[in-house]
Amino acid sequence: MTKIIGLTGGIGSGKTTIANYLASLAVPVYIADDAGKKVMQQLEIIEAIQEKFGTNIVVEHQLNRAKLAEIVFNNPDQLKTLNAIIHPAVKEDFKNWLKQHQDSPFVVYESAILFESGSYTDFDSIITVTAPVETRISRVLKRDDSNREQVMKRIHAQWTDEQRIAKSDLVVENVDINLAKVKIEEFLKILSINQ
Ligand code: ATP
Repeated sequence: MTKIIGLTGGIGSGKTTIANYLASLAVPVYIADDAGKKVMQQLEIIEAIQEKFGTNIVVEHQLNRAKLAEIVFNNPDQLKTLNAIIHPAVKEDFKNWLKQHQDSPFVVYESAILFESGSYTDFDSIITVTAPVETRISRVLKRDDSNREQVMKRIHAQWTDEQRIAKSDLVVENVDINLAKVKIEEFLKILSINQ
């Protein structure tokens, strides 16, 4: 049976960087955020969101995702409503994706909100990527068009590293990428041996 490894970490920790590395080692990687964006283009999902959030959330048959993000970020009830539409669709999409990879000994599911969404109980093991908060902030400021205050707000909306680590099977500190890669390789070896 294919083992499903959850991969998560706080904003700017380097989840995507590690996910890309795993993919380069021929491990099938599912990026939940990309899947979320994909399902948001499906007509029935657009209609369901429109029904809850009003017609002006759709412009030329496409969701205004920036507007939607702004609404839900400042309103936990609205976030719950949106998640109740998106999460089942992503779950279904992942199920279909998994069928295509059932010959793989393990696959990776990368999500920024693995713990926050409650989906962490669905995995055989969980990898958390960490980096010092200041490092994460400076990475995000360099990468995105955002300011320190916005990044801090997002950090505070997520679980802390301590909370994530307590529920993880492997913690990969991603400061020196080469050390992080070695840790990932070691973990994959152990998984292969225990297969
Ligand atoms: P988010 O949650 O915001 O999507 P993330 O956890 O997926 O972030 P990445 O996008 O992988 O993080 O990395 C954030 C930024 O930091 C990227 O620009 C990436 O190139 C850079 N980065 C990642 N790991 C390292 C590292 N070990 N050393 C230096 N820069 C790094």
